[in-house]
Amino acid sequence: MRRNLQSRSHHAVVIGGSIAGLCAARVLSDHFDRVTIYERDELPDEPVNRSAIPQGLHVHLLMARGAQELESVFPGLLADMVDAGVPVIENRPESIHFSAAGHVLGTGQQMLGEFTAYVPSRGHLEWQIRNRVLSIPNVSVARQVVSQPRFDPATRSVTGVVLDDGETVAADLVVEASGRGSRLPVWLEEWGFGRPREDQIQVGVTYASQRVHIPEGLIAEKMVVCGAALDRPRGMGMLFHEDGIWIVTAFGVAKTEPPRDFAGICALAETLLPPHISAALRAGDPVGKMNFHRYPTRKWRRYDKMAELPSGIIPFGDAVASLNPTFGQGVTMAALQANNLRAVLDDGTDNLVARLAKATARTTLPVWLMNAVADIEEHGAQGPRPWWYGPLFGLFKQFVGAAETDPVLAEWFLRRTSLLDSLWVVPPPRLVGRAIRNNVRLWRAERQRMHTGGSAAAHSAVVPAAERTEPTLSTPAE
Ligand SMILES: Cc1cc2nc3c(=O)[nH]c(=O)nc-3n(C[C@H](O)[C@H](O)[C@H](O)COP(=O)(O)OP(=O)(O)OC[C@H]3O[C@@H](n4cnc5c(N)ncnc54)[C@H](O)[C@@H]3O)c2cc1C
Repeated sequence: MRRNLQSRSHHAVVIGGSIAGLCAARVLSDHFDRVTIYERDELPDEPVNRSAIPQGLHVHLLMARGAQELESVFPGLLADMVDAGVPVIENRPESIHFSAAGHVLGTGQQMLGEFTAYVPSRGHLEWQIRNRVLSIPNVSVARQVVSQPRFDPATRSVTGVVLDDGETVAADLVVEASGRGSRLPVWLEEWGFGRPREDQIQVGVTYASQRVHIPEGLIAEKMVVCGAALDRPRGMGMLFHEDGIWIVTAFGVAKTEPPRDFAGICALAETLLPPHISAALRAGDPVGKMNFHRYPTRKWRRYDKMAELPSGIIPFGDAVASLNPTFGQGVTMAALQANNLRAVLDDGTDNLVARLAKATARTTLPVWLMNAVADIEEHGAQGPRPWWYGPLFGLFKQFVGAAETDPVLAEWFLRRTSLLDSLWVVPPPRLVGRAIRNNVRLWRAERQRMHTGGSAAAHSAVVPAAERTEPTLSTPAE
């Protein structure tokens, strides 16, 4: 449905044909006569990763919320992925191993609310989305580099793009979705708007990844996530994909180096993961070579804070905010932004750029802050440290410690880290009470164990089934 467009050619251009650009193009196709995506990379017509996307060679998680948001942009996507063999996780405790801040959450305990996650490889996910976008009649994709947007100083607006062969293409709206290396801040400065403020946190993450064939039947899990902790600056992720191969990533935070070879990954797994998973990994056969990737700094360009922005260009996806990859949120944020774009366009094109910048900031803020607290307090990252980060992280540690043996708390936590529920909602007093009671039980059990010198097991601290009540589901994350 096209609304409120008084523009000249009704043509929108998208710079970059990765996930953010594809999501934007899908939304724009309902509002513009024509949408052209310019992508510098070759776009394969098979479900494989492409060279411009190095992250596709590493663990690349699709959050449960991201799957929901993508489905709302591309109805039928999830069913098609399942038909193509993409593994699904549904309320199945044996399907996930998840550890955060040194605590394994709700091991083996059934989840009480609805939790569904999908585990496509990055190449497969992008291919599914790309096929859908390319089948939209008014969307086309051209393999070409955009040199820069065309700016008209008289109207202080962007009126198209200049391609690397010198051709100029007119457009009513340009979406800048060229990723974290976006040059929009430079162009804005050249055009006299100044640069946006850039919030940064030096996370010093290095990935080392290996695809592995693990004999069938050794692991029931399809997703293994073990975050780094303060006293343990390495973590791991393992995802089982549609091609029957595991992608296994070991990572270091705060400039800690991950292992350099498969033997090193297996040795790290023995210190971080349950024995059945590390043994299965050791029994596996590496497929192809190891891949490495450095991600030094997470960035948020605050276009929402600029006094003035040119009309005719909107920054999108990682070009606005590039988050710590170990949290696996980038695709979810791009899909959320696409739904913001739809809402903003539905309200008309007046002041579109500023309205979208504000909506994007509202969506990004809670995620940026949650990650910042964890990065600064737990992962040794360098960046601004407001006084309240420490106390907040202290409470978080208490909560996540109690969640280890309490499925209700574990689920509350998992739904938030999956962005299914709003990060702004603090735990209700009922859950805080559970966390305190549970931690007191754990503390008593530990004291008893020390006094008896035996193993008055932490089992005695597991919350009895009768106390497992339905968690309150709160509003989705913005
Ligand atoms: C190591 C790593 C791990 C990650 N892990 C996860 C994860 O587990 N889960 C998750 O959700 N997210 C993850 N992310 C982030 C996620 O991949 C991105 O958020 C997602 O790809 C959306 O990014 P984007 O489309 O904005 O940019 P990108 O994916 O970077 O794509 C930008 C595109 O623009 C093209 N381009 C650039 N310049 C031009 C130009 N001048 N002309 C034409 N084309 C151009 C590029 O070729 C590229 O295709 C990870 C990122 C990294 C780096």
